[in-house]
Amino acid sequence: MKPPDQQLTSAQVGSVLKMLALTTERELNCSECLQHVGEFAETRLASQPVDAVMASIEQHLALCPECREEFEALMTILQAGQ
Ligand SMILES: [Zn+2]
Repeated sequence: MKPPDQQLTSAQVGSVLKMLALTTERELNCSECLQHVGEFAETRLASQPVDAVMASIEQHLALCPECREEFEALMTILQAGQ
């Protein structure tokens, strides 16, 4: 009996690496993220659709605990002010 083929082909590895490169290229740094995080929080609170910039903020927040902390503090303030 043949075991399931779980090994990645070199083509698959190549496309994963390409995806990672793309992610890194598009990723914001923290200061860029913090420039937009207020706007992102307001967009979120208003339940507006996120545009490309907001989507990259969201992505950065998912990866960066420091910026996420800023974002959550901001959300708390904005929600308290509503
Ligand atoms: Zn960050």
